[in-house]
Amino acid sequence: MGKYKAKIGLEMHCEISETKTKVFSSAKNEYTEQANSNIRPVDMAFPGVLPVVNKEAVRMALMASMALKCKQPAYMYFERKNYYYPDLPKGFQLTQETKPIPVGIYGEVTFECNGEEKRVRINNLHLEEDAASLDHYDDYSTIDYNRAGVPLLELVTEPDITSAEEAVAFLEHMRSVYQYLGISEADSKKGQVRCDVNVSIMDENLDENDPHNWGTKIEVKNVNSFGGVRDAIKYEIKRQTKLKENNEYDTMEQQTRRWDEESGTTIYMRSKVDAIDYKYFVEPNIPKFKISSEWLEEIKSSIPRLAYDRKKEYMTKYGLSDYDASILVKQKDISDYFEETVSLGCDAKQVANWTNGMILNYLNSKEISITEFFLNPSMLKELIDLINSKTISSKQGKEVFAKVLEKQKSPQEIVKSEGMMQITDTSELDQIIDEVIRENPEQVASYDPERPKILDYFIGQIMKKTRGKANPATASQLMKEKLNDLRK
Ligand code: ADP
Ligand code: MG
Repeated sequence: MGKYKAKIGLEMHCEISETKTKVFSSAKNEYTEQANSNIRPVDMAFPGVLPVVNKEAVRMALMASMALKCKQPAYMYFERKNYYYPDLPKGFQLTQETKPIPVGIYGEVTFECNGEEKRVRINNLHLEEDAASLDHYDDYSTIDYNRAGVPLLELVTEPDITSAEEAVAFLEHMRSVYQYLGISEADSKKGQVRCDVNVSIMDENLDENDPHNWGTKIEVKNVNSFGGVRDAIKYEIKRQTKLKENNEYDTMEQQTRRWDEESGTTIYMRSKVDAIDYKYFVEPNIPKFKISSEWLEEIKSSIPRLAYDRKKEYMTKYGLSDYDASILVKQKDISDYFEETVSLGCDAKQVANWTNGMILNYLNSKEISITEFFLNPSMLKELIDLINSKTISSKQGKEVFAKVLEKQKSPQEIVKSEGMMQITDTSELDQIIDEVIRENPEQVASYDPERPKILDYFIGQIMKKTRGKANPATASQLMKEKLNDLRK
């Protein structure tokens, strides 16, 4: 029995959450609990109303197009995709077909999956409006138009993905790209990301670069979580493999199925022969508009370095581990904080340890973001410098960290006001050591330089007397010298 490999193509819909208003209306683009409170007549398709394109949404879409290495258009227009559904009051969705260029075509994405570098070609990226949301109950349904008209980016990949894990890694990568670009939270829990998943299988020994060898495409609609994408793909590969083994695969028609979260299965919706003809035509109320090369340049120069590149840099330039670098780049704000502190002249590894340890712990426990965090990069530098100069021990550093946040004062101020300076002054330590020697004649007598374990005991005594403030290295050096002198 032959073996098979899967071909997977994704259609990822992601709401642009960071514009002020919707894509064609002046209603606010924000999630509101109160249903049907965030709508303008355009969103409801009242007669005589006209759409106005949100320039900010177009700018963000073009930014995404560039980040995906797509080709951008010289002109842009929108098209009507005609179909009737209760969540679509106009009877059509304003979207973009792929000709000539929507916001982008022919891009590519490089990402990591289980430590391996993967590449997926992007067929196209287009801007459209989201539909209203429908909720179905036992014997009635509700409709909330707040979502109608929210800007939506649809990204269509070539079928270059080969497994469920790779599909999820791709989506996680894209979520990070959208977050770094500041165009979307890309939070699937908030319903901002929805996918259609296309899956087919083919004989493993055939050439996958020849589309004639590809299997029959099955499209699974409306998969609303990354876990759902993973499970739907796994389920389809299994289901299709079984069909193949029963000789039922090759006669099968292309079909559209639906992911059923509850049963964890895909359910037949329609065959390609019943495909809906959307009768696309150009939206006459939005004139074709020019995308100037100056504007494109301006957008391009505003694109920040993305997580994928930052992570690589942290590992090669600073020698951070894969694990540490991954944590640092997970959120752009954190990565920016790390970079700012390093740019002040701190050692990257030390900064990474503080950021990934104490700082992230604190932020998580308080449920705040780093932008609301009192201890800014220059204070972190202050703290690190205090430790490196041995003014305080690293153990004291942790106390200072906590006090800084508790008292909202800089590390320098805390060290001063709490009297936390380490004692490195030898004359002060001399006195204390003399005391310790006077009070512990037996231990002093038993001191043997060949087996200096008893030193730990003396250091303990010194620490007790100084309430932990003695610099351990200096104290130990002085103590040893005195004990050796006594033996002479
Ligand atoms: P349609 O015209 O039916 O929308 P497209 O060619 O536009 O089909 O492809 C839609 C999606 O299906 C894309 O993500 C594409 O990569 C994917 N796809 C196309 N052919 C296959 C296949 N044989 N197996 C898996 N995915 C496929
Ligand atoms: Mg399609």
